[in-house]
Formats: sequence, structure tokens, C-alpha cells
Amino acid sequence: MTHIPTTLIGRFAPTPSGKLHIGNIFAALMAYLSVKSKGGRFIVRIEDLDSVRCPKSNADEILSDLHTLGLDSDVEVLYQSERAAVYEKYAKILEDKNLVYPCFCSRAELHAATAPHESDGNYIYDGKCRALTDVEIEELSKKRSPSLRVRVPDKEITFDDMILGSHTQNLARECGDFIIRRSDGVYAYQLAVVVDDALSNVTEVVRGSDLISSAPRQIWLYETLGFKPPAFAHLPLLTAADGRRLSKRDGDSLSYYLKNFPPEKIIGILARAASLTTTSAPITPAELVPLFDPDKIPKTACVLPE
Ligand code: GLU
Repeated sequence: MTHIPTTLIGRFAPTPSGKLHIGNIFAALMAYLSVKSKGGRFIVRIEDLDSVRCPKSNADEILSDLHTLGLDSDVEVLYQSERAAVYEKYAKILEDKNLVYPCFCSRAELHAATAPHESDGNYIYDGKCRALTDVEIEELSKKRSPSLRVRVPDKEITFDDMILGSHTQNLARECGDFIIRRSDGVYAYQLAVVVDDALSNVTEVVRGSDLISSAPRQIWLYETLGFKPPAFAHLPLLTAADGRRLSKRDGDSLSYYLKNFPPEKIIGILARAASLTTTSAPITPAELVPLFDPDKIPKTACVLPE
């Protein structure tokens, strides 16, 4: 099942549960520049696994904003909400390896279909349902439908992040068994992101560092499913000029920027924040490609210019 990619492929994979903020576009721009600077292709995927929280209108707006900014996908956009049958196939592979068990605990289940950002806290499952007997499973199933959890090994996973350097995590201690399908049947982010990136032949994942703690379990899933993991680059947080963390407030929303600045100016501001340029003069993503250098990106925080 291993494949040898002939083309470099990078991606931006937003969850359309609300409006994008400027930090999301920063990640999209860096993902685009990183792969384009190596002559590769950029793809966009809509991570609307939880279709109730992710209406199509949000996805339409995101794609239209990306187009305005010059960050179109080079291939047809995939919608995760349409791909449950694909995820089912790969969940079955994990089941056949005896790595999956039903879990009747409800805690921490709600957000399983969305990416766990650092600010969501780091919940480690205590393994309560790991060793249920068939009889117990039958009894518990009468009361509620279970989610599916994957059993992680007591193993250290190490990878070399293109921006942040070497990163190690012990899966059992620092991650714990994680959900691959919620009790309502919705497949979870961790499984879907790996399956989709692998089947789209993604060779590099460039995204915010608030997702770095997901990379080790994703690498383990790639290997367990017989895929080669991509390279990872986790971007430092984008902050306001005064060092303030960006929030969901209006002034940090992409729509605020689009209302107040022409698209090329927004790209110029983000290029300056990444230290790819010394001024925030207007520029397009395509024009920025030759200026991209991952070594220039600050490692602790990227600060929006005044
Ligand atoms: N869909 C995730 C989010 O919007 C990003 C997933 C990823 O880049 O791996 O937070």
C-alpha cells in the first residue's frame, strides 16, 4: 500500500465551524508558499466531519475568501462530510488488527470530530473501557451506543519538525487511547485527517503549532495503516502587534481584514509577520513564492505589524 509520491503536495484543511480568523489565513499562506517554493501543488480540503456544526455556507465563504486572496486549491476540493465510507474502510483495517474497542464513556467525546487545539486542553483517556468483556459490552450497548477508540502502544514517537525541530511524545502516557468514531457514527478528526492526507498523497503538513501534539498519533496511524507519514511544519502562534493572542473577536476575523484592506495588503501583512519581507507592502502569494524561506520564520511568535 505504500506509494512513492512523484509530486510534492501541501494542504490547507480548515474546519468550517465558524468564520476564519487571520491566523487561519497565515497557516494557509505558509502551507501554500512552502510547497510552491519546491514546485509542488497546493490542495484545500474542507474538514466538515460534523456537518451539523459545519454548514455548507461557511465552507463556501472560506473557499471564496481563499480565492480572493490568491490561495486556490490546485485540485478539486474534498469535503470530509462526503467520505464516511472511506473512513469506515480504514477503521476496519484498525479493527482487524485488534486495535479498536467500543468505549461507553461520554467525556471528551463531543469534540472528537474537530482538531484538538492546544487551548482545548490535553485530555488523556484513562483506559476505562479498554478491557471490557463481551458480556459487559452487550449490557452497556443496551443503554447507549459506544464510540470507537484505538488502543495506542506504550511507544515514543519522534519526528523532526521543519520549523520547531525534534519533537517526541510517548503515545500511552502523553496521548492515550483516542476516539476514531463518535457514538453518533461521525468519524473523528484524527482518523479522517490521516486517511485524507495519505490518499491525497500529501507530502507536507504545514499548520499551527497548536496542533503539534496531534502529530505523533497521526504518524503512528499512518504507519499502522501502511502509509508513509508526510513531513510536518508547525507554525508559531500569530499574535497581534502588542503580543496579544488573536481571538474570535471581530478585529481578528478575516472578514474584518477583507473589509479594511485589499487582498494583496493582507498577504503583505502576513508575509511581514513571517519575516519573509521587511515591509508589509502589497504582494500576491504567487509573487511571494521565491521569497519563502522556512529558516526566516520566527520560532516563538509571528507578530502582526502595527
Ligand atoms: N481542520 C483543522 C482545523 O481547522 C486543521 C487540521 C490540520 O491542519 O491537520 O483546525
